[in-house]
Amino acid sequence: MQVYADNAATTKMSKAAIEAMLPYFDKTYGNPSSLHTPGQEAKEALEDARARIAGCIGCEPREIYFTSGGSEADNQAIRSAAYYGARKGKKHIISTAFEHHAVLHTLEKLEKEGFEVTLLDVKTNHNITARQVRDAIREDTCLVSVVYGNNEIGSLLPIAEIGEVCKQAGVPFHTDAVQAVGHVAINVKQENIDLLSLSAHKFHGPRGAGVLYARRGFPLTNLIEGGAQERGKRAGTENLPAIMGMAAALEEACANLEDNQKKVTALRDKLVAGLSKIPHCAMNGDPDHRLPGIVSFCFEGIEGESLLLLLDAQGIYASSGSACTSGSLDPSHVLLAIGRVHDVAHGSLRLSLSHYNTEEEIDYILETVPQVVSLLRNMSPVWRDLQNGVRQYIL
Ligand SMILES: *Cc1c(COP(=O)(O)O)cnc(C)c1O
Repeated sequence: MQVYADNAATTKMSKAAIEAMLPYFDKTYGNPSSLHTPGQEAKEALEDARARIAGCIGCEPREIYFTSGGSEADNQAIRSAAYYGARKGKKHIISTAFEHHAVLHTLEKLEKEGFEVTLLDVKTNHNITARQVRDAIREDTCLVSVVYGNNEIGSLLPIAEIGEVCKQAGVPFHTDAVQAVGHVAINVKQENIDLLSLSAHKFHGPRGAGVLYARRGFPLTNLIEGGAQERGKRAGTENLPAIMGMAAALEEACANLEDNQKKVTALRDKLVAGLSKIPHCAMNGDPDHRLPGIVSFCFEGIEGESLLLLLDAQGIYASSGSACTSGSLDPSHVLLAIGRVHDVAHGSLRLSLSHYNTEEEIDYILETVPQVVSLLRNMSPVWRDLQNGVRQYIL
């Protein structure tokens, strides 16, 4: 059996999304900026996609800016709010310690440019509260930027409450909603969101297409200079096939949101219940407020990388929170941020599900993971020390 359980990394494209793209490669292939008929047909399709995407998140079409994906949208949202604040003498930004690197690394760059960043603590419940945000807001705060749902551990943040706090304080609010859009119901107006990032390949659309939603009138900073595309805020000929695929995938995800949520949540709960039976493990993430599809565990006495390789050999495709693949020996900043010590954080496993997963696949994972964990523990000197009482168990 082969089980793809890495949907937080990327998803398989839906048939509807693939079909929606095809005509824009060789039939309606004009440049939307061209004045001739094929160009105008492409322009019409582009604006239609914009309106449909806007409908899915509750904003106006003119508030949608197409980008190359979630990372670009995060970068542009944060820099826009930062530079807008700086023009008014405000250079303080609030975020969390468990953001995606697209956010954290942008904030690090801004710190070097003289901005001050407060990262909210996420140790309590592996989440933050709106109260923490309110207490951190200062006179000179120019932006609150928090992830909507965390990509490694699945915590779902109290976005509507944070939106209310930001609105009361008059502070712009950005959310990286890349893991949430198409998976949970989102309405940017009701949740008082000024800036939101989304990415097509996290909801069964194509790679390389995303959106920055910016509330009407919000002054955006260009990351890419050039032509007048996207109301002059994002130059470059539009990736029309990908945008059409993104619109189709999002509409499909939103139309089936409740059914998919119900199905994926049931699979996830079964997975969590089964994995929790493994001795000396702990689930990561807020136990009560979660994205439907993301499951993260730490197993004491093993290395996440070895676990992944053995699972791969059994046809289970998952991910670990640790960053060894990227050449660093440090464990995931997210797992450290929620308070896992290095040894424990190294033994992490993330399984991220979609509605394409089946109950049989969950059964197979639940049969395989405990076996592989035992196998690795039996070979581990750390596990032997734990068993002999030379080391103390943490979990
Ligand atoms: C995947 C992801 C991103 C990056 O999106 P890309 O489209 O791959 O650039 C940003 N934030 C979160 C939370 C993500 O999961």
